[in-house]
Amino acid sequence: MSNSPEHIKTLIIGSGPAGYTAAIYAARADLKPVVYTGLEPGGQLTTTTEVDNFPGYPEGVDGPTMMVQLQQQAERFGTDVRIGMATAVAFSKEVGGLHRVTIDDTKEVVAETVIISTGATAKYLGLPSEQRLRGGGVSACAVCDGFFYKGQDVAIVGGGDTAAEEATYLANICKNVTMLVRKDQMRASKAMQHRVTSTPNIDLRYNTEIDEVLGDQVVEGLRMVNNQTGAKEEIAITGLFIAIGHKPNTEIFAGQLDMDDAGYLITEGKSTKTNIPGVFASGDVQDKEYRQAVTAAGTGCMAALDAERYLATIETEA
Ligand code: NDP
Repeated sequence: MSNSPEHIKTLIIGSGPAGYTAAIYAARADLKPVVYTGLEPGGQLTTTTEVDNFPGYPEGVDGPTMMVQLQQQAERFGTDVRIGMATAVAFSKEVGGLHRVTIDDTKEVVAETVIISTGATAKYLGLPSEQRLRGGGVSACAVCDGFFYKGQDVAIVGGGDTAAEEATYLANICKNVTMLVRKDQMRASKAMQHRVTSTPNIDLRYNTEIDEVLGDQVVEGLRMVNNQTGAKEEIAITGLFIAIGHKPNTEIFAGQLDMDDAGYLITEGKSTKTNIPGVFASGDVQDKEYRQAVTAAGTGCMAALDAERYLATIETEA
């Protein structure tokens, strides 16, 4: 039996909307895609409930169902979906070179082209009460879940552009938004800060952190603490949004792929090309700004088209 690693034409790492959309396009173009799902098959959407903002679902769809349907759609055209995690990579810098990828620390594959769709993980505070109530009123995506709190009182934690943008988004939908910023200033751009401070139903609290999220099955309130004075205060809310940043899942690419200071993969211009020929990036792993299922799916499509053109070019040159 040969010990040579399995040869894959198009390897897709990650199984969120970006990875599966790349797989649908790649399979239909006969690029023989293999998807390794990662630790969280289906990606971040499997941790949300109702998805109401993905086009084509007039009644909405729950996240896990949508991801199963995306997988089935990719499989319908011949995508090979495998449970497994890419744990190391050795990319070739040569045009037409083979890229080595280790799966689950044990199996090695080589791929002509690789599409990275490993996503990003929302950061949470780590409080036990916050973790217990995830899905019960604690969310890391106001655009996804804010609508469920229409006309209600909510709170948001964070002082960056995301928190500022989401606070103003929530203020349009909800009755009142309490915004907790741990320092005496926000990190968000001046323009975003201005939007927050000029929105009457945002109650901005500096030097304020969460002591405990209150509620048994669902969020019922918040105990806040002023980190300068130690004073505690309880407020009634039904939704809590955590907006303290995301961490792109790019550790295994360090030293090989260009990244920004926060670890997001850098792609060339409007394309999904990384600095390595034949390696493409799509979805949240290369997008810290929009981070929506539909934008991730769009860049997944782009990555498959970029991979198709790359393979066509090297086949022509061979
Ligand atoms: P950032 O890292 O910029 O900000 C994170 C915020 O969360 C900071 O205010 C930070 O506080 C706070 N924070 C971190 N940990 C905790 C904690 N444990 N408890 C309480 N607060 C905490 O993340 P963003 O997601 O806001 O933005 C990421 C990047 O995306 C930025 O470069 C941003 O400019 C960009 N972006 C741009 C947008 C646009 O242009 N429209 C929209 C959204 C994002 P502290 O300041 O004290 O560290």
